[in-house]
Amino acid sequence: MENVGMEKAGMEKAGMENVGMENIGFCKIKDSSSPLEYYIFDHLSRYRELRHAVFTRLGGVSSPPFDSLNTGMATGDDPGSVMRNREIVESQITGSGMEGYFLYLNQVHGREFVVLKKDDYKSTSEMERFCAGSHEADGIITDVENIFAVIQVADCQAVILYDPLRRVVAGIHSGWRGSLLNIIGAGVDIMAGEFGSEPGNIIAAISPSLGPCCAQFVNYKDEIPRHLWKYRMDGASHNEENNFDFWFMSRDQLMEKGVLPHNIEIAGICTPCRVDRFYSYRNEGVTGRFAVVAGVVSEGI
Ligand SMILES: [Zn+2]
Repeated sequence: MENVGMEKAGMEKAGMENVGMENIGFCKIKDSSSPLEYYIFDHLSRYRELRHAVFTRLGGVSSPPFDSLNTGMATGDDPGSVMRNREIVESQITGSGMEGYFLYLNQVHGREFVVLKKDDYKSTSEMERFCAGSHEADGIITDVENIFAVIQVADCQAVILYDPLRRVVAGIHSGWRGSLLNIIGAGVDIMAGEFGSEPGNIIAAISPSLGPCCAQFVNYKDEIPRHLWKYRMDGASHNEENNFDFWFMSRDQLMEKGVLPHNIEIAGICTPCRVDRFYSYRNEGVTGRFAVVAGVVSEGI
């Protein structure tokens, strides 16, 4: 992301001591002149044509308890503040002199996708209208350049999938309900079926989200189907026996579809543990949503 005016000199290791899992490739990028910061995934940053960022809660205009870069409209925050925050996020992604269309979803913890193909949308005004429309879904898959998928989360996983051969990008919202529905697997299927992606070529990244240290499901016998009980922690490494590892569940869901383990990057940061930097619904209740953004840009930009 050299061309968006940020300095890589500000990169820091973003791992966390008590989650037992450190990903040194998941890097924070910060411009010392601004409170805004975002993270990038090591695997995804290798592709110049792909632009992506995991924003935090820092650098926006919302007041507590939404402070400050809240991009979620259905949170109770002032809509004007949310719109301003979205502009901040968008201008960070596009920089100057580039037209970008940002697709926000009304996320409903289902497994529906918005699929946007080059062949379907020819004019920029059509794309603009489409992106500005209301879409009830939990995933976006597109091969259209300069369309950016925006997933808004506070504990749920935002998953980015990218096929560098077909130049297809997916943004997926997978909370624990989405994990139960295997929306991630559905996303890989759509990339393969609609765009011809080979799962072996897909690069996957999982955002900061509810970690095994905080994913306690006391009523798991009612809420989580039996075949997923293997993701329950054994109590040896964490205090509670009713905690689940949704990061590993997602990893398995990707691998079951043929995504290669070395192409899967998990940020390994637990949002309830890190409300200094991210939003957590579980920890805070009324709060904001941080944005995870990904899209392919035109050649030469
Ligand atoms: Zn935690």
